[in-house]
Amino acid sequence: MLKCSKCGKALADKDALVHKDPEGNQHIICHDCFKEAMGVDYQTFAFRKENAKQTFFAVLFCLAATIYAFMEKGPLYGGLGIILTILVYIFSSKAK
Ligand SMILES: [Zn+2]
Repeated sequence: MLKCSKCGKALADKDALVHKDPEGNQHIICHDCFKEAMGVDYQTFAFRKENAKQTFFAVLFCLAATIYAFMEKGPLYGGLGIILTILVYIFSSKAK
């Protein structure tokens, strides 16, 4: 059984969160203390992190496709690829 280092609440392994303080020390904390420290609850935090990762890969993929289209099909397709990349970026950052 783990203990929250802030409020001392007993935690099940799956509910224990590792939080780094500004000095870089790691603490085991509960969801409530995580929310207090970060200003968002853990689900929202994890969701945003996951979303940012997905956006990054989607944009990366579009950029690669754009470069490929530019080399293989010429500037017109390359330009379309850039527009597509921007659209993907806008839509995935709006989907929060
Ligand atoms: Zn706590």
